[in-house]
Amino acid sequence: MSSSAANSDSPLTITVQSSQLHCDGTAGGEGHSLGHPRIYLNISASGKVACPYCGILYQLAAGAKPLASAH
Ligand SMILES: [Zn+2]
Repeated sequence: MSSSAANSDSPLTITVQSSQLHCDGTAGGEGHSLGHPRIYLNISASGKVACPYCGILYQLAAGAKPLASAH
């Protein structure tokens, strides 16, 4: 068996500076212009959130504080 390193399987990861963002499916640029209704996402303390529509993974940039800072 060959190891299936399907790059089309891995989700596109986008680094963002804000824990509050929106996605309409076009953030991936060319080849990822699926498009879907714009939804708003909040990056939790885990530092990342995946869009339930297109599966793009948004990761909070290092140094940026997540919205839900547990203090
Ligand atoms: Zn999306």
